[in-house]
Amino acid sequence: MNISLVIPLYNEAESLPELCTWIKRVMDDHAYSYEIILIDDGSNDGSWEVIEDLKKENAAITGIQFRRNYGKSAALNVGFEAAQGEVVITMDADLQDSPDEIPVLYRRIQEEKLDLISGWKKKRYDPITKTIPTKLFNAVTRKMSGINNLHDFNCGLKAYRKEVVKSIEVYGEMHRYIPVIAKWAGFKRIEEQVVEHRARKYGTTKFGFSRFINGFLDLLSIFFVGKFSKRPMHFFGTLGVLSFLAGFGITVWLIADKLIDISKGLAYRNVTDQPLFYIALVAIIVGFQLFLTGFIAELVSRNSPERNHYQIGKRI
Ligand code: UDP
Ligand code: MG
Repeated sequence: MNISLVIPLYNEAESLPELCTWIKRVMDDHAYSYEIILIDDGSNDGSWEVIEDLKKENAAITGIQFRRNYGKSAALNVGFEAAQGEVVITMDADLQDSPDEIPVLYRRIQEEKLDLISGWKKKRYDPITKTIPTKLFNAVTRKMSGINNLHDFNCGLKAYRKEVVKSIEVYGEMHRYIPVIAKWAGFKRIEEQVVEHRARKYGTTKFGFSRFINGFLDLLSIFFVGKFSKRPMHFFGTLGVLSFLAGFGITVWLIADKLIDISKGLAYRNVTDQPLFYIALVAIIVGFQLFLTGFIAELVSRNSPERNHYQIGKRI
């Protein structure tokens, strides 16, 4: 099979028939073999009944229904597990992404041997309250992930080589960072394709302002997990030792200073009268706690079933 389309949806009943007809037209025009995997993320607007009807007309459609709403990442993850095509393409169900982009994405993955192509909604039809935070969010993600060639991490329209989606796991709200997850998993050929962005025709957006706060926290976790999950002590231990040594050094110095003053018969300040002493004390305690955290994290990761899980590229 050439292409698997993975489409998460939550309350998009009105858009679905138009979307499926359009996809079928594009696929038939290019004579691609394909499947459309529709993941109903616990909709309550009758989306599932629409999917059942659509499947009667088009056997290429597979429907998966969640009993409740788990979020876009969960839906994508289940879709990725089910996908069988050589190239897996994700898109939103709200008709904001155009199925006409599929052939270009497919061709580029195959011809340029890419791992992932992320869509770039260069010209957007969203309110300014969304576009400005989005710019900021993308800039921070670029800096932290080192993927400097992407402008738009969160675009729903993306194409992957099958191997990529089978090697990564998306959970929480991590769908915003799939390129970052793919990079951490060792897939380096990540490119971008300018895609058309259309205004939402039916229904409303499913993410409010909380997307920015949650998005930022997710970025921190993903960065930490990617870099240190296999060796947490290196992170906590380094900070802890530095903090402890700083506090210890300052305390020794304060005491030495006092002893020197006494031995010279000069006036001296009590160690406990000096603000610096209390700062040093805090640094020692914090340092020790960081060290202990590292120790516990190390024990946790020793017991993790993931501890010896590596991405293996090729074997001969
Ligand atoms: N979506 C989903 N589960 C959710 C929220 C959204 O599957 O809990 C789907 C939604 O139906 C759409 C896609 O994710 O197909 C993108 O959502 P939306 O268009 O609301 O996001 P926006 O375009 O505003 O970023
Ligand atoms: Mg949308």
